[in-house]
Amino acid sequence: MKDRRRKKRRVRKRDWSVNDLDAENRQPRRFRGLDVGLGTEAEDIDERFEAIQPNGVVVSPYGVLAFVEFDGQERLCRVAERLCVGGTSILAPGDRVRVDAQQDDLCVSAVQHRQSKLSRPATKGQREQVIAVNVDHILCVVAVAQPRFKVGVLDRFLIAADIGHIRPIVVVNKTDLAEEAPREFDVYRDLNLPIIFTSCETGEGIDRLRTLLENSVSVLAGQSGVGKTSLINCLHPDIALETREVSDYNEKGRHTTTVSRLYHLAGGIDIIDTPGIRQLGVWDVTKEEVALYFPDIAALGEHCRFRDCSHTHEPGCAVQDAVETGALPAVRYKSYCRIRDSLDSKSPWA
Ligand code: GDP
Ligand code: ZN
Repeated sequence: MKDRRRKKRRVRKRDWSVNDLDAENRQPRRFRGLDVGLGTEAEDIDERFEAIQPNGVVVSPYGVLAFVEFDGQERLCRVAERLCVGGTSILAPGDRVRVDAQQDDLCVSAVQHRQSKLSRPATKGQREQVIAVNVDHILCVVAVAQPRFKVGVLDRFLIAADIGHIRPIVVVNKTDLAEEAPREFDVYRDLNLPIIFTSCETGEGIDRLRTLLENSVSVLAGQSGVGKTSLINCLHPDIALETREVSDYNEKGRHTTTVSRLYHLAGGIDIIDTPGIRQLGVWDVTKEEVALYFPDIAALGEHCRFRDCSHTHEPGCAVQDAVETGALPAVRYKSYCRIRDSLDSKSPWA
């Protein structure tokens, strides 16, 4: 593959004002009839989230500090003590905040109620880690090749989207590398998920994606190398972000970004790119609940002999029958079983 690396000319385009955030079209849309997520119950009654007039947006929290877009610039701010616990603030990328400025001292003094929230389990301990808030879409980016499509990664993103009440958009990139139309995504189209085939090489699908994302906030999700940075460049060529060859990444994704970024693209398209989302563990789901997030399996499960059928070993299981007849793709069923196996029976949050 030829080297498409480009020099970083300008990192951001600042054509946006904080007041835009309160415009009506920023309200999260409803997906599959779910109510807009307001976070956990605990958070709803958490008095630290308030009705305020924000004048900044958190880009990257950093211990008891945070990079905040304030006054048209990204500024490093202190975070008021009451918004911190044990050396870390409660802020997440996308939080709308009040910044008090006294000369050079900038302090985040208040944070607005959240309208949506995307979380995963923290690496250490069974704690929730909030990855991004106040977003309308999750762009679940996969590639037809280079890297190879991993069904489990996409399914985990879709579960996280459902839990966070955030509308997923499946972006299948690098279509120029496929010899024929890939069939493995048919199952997602059949589930009525928005799915867009794109190529940053040929420009396929980019206009459609741009139209879908206009005047909304999206968070980018996807393994390293699928083309997330390239998609931002295609949506807004002036931004000219640096992309990397897939071979540049080691197994642990050494080259991946380590801080969150908020990009303002033309057409009111805001995109949060956050390292937290690359490999998303499933948060707040028990083994028994996984089927609820596979709508096709849940529908088949209505016909199982046992009401509490796990669809793994029971006799009279309509799901296993469907796999045998080919009505349910085996790869889909395997993904269900794998995610199920990775979880405990009891949610850490129960
Ligand atoms: P990211 O890690 O997800 O941000 O991926 P990058 O945007 O850095 O892209 C990784 C590599 O894939 C780079 O070499 C890109 O030039 C290449 N790439 C991105 N999109 C496409 C595409 O649609 N087709 C092809 N053939 N290569 C692409
Ligand atoms: Zn069953």
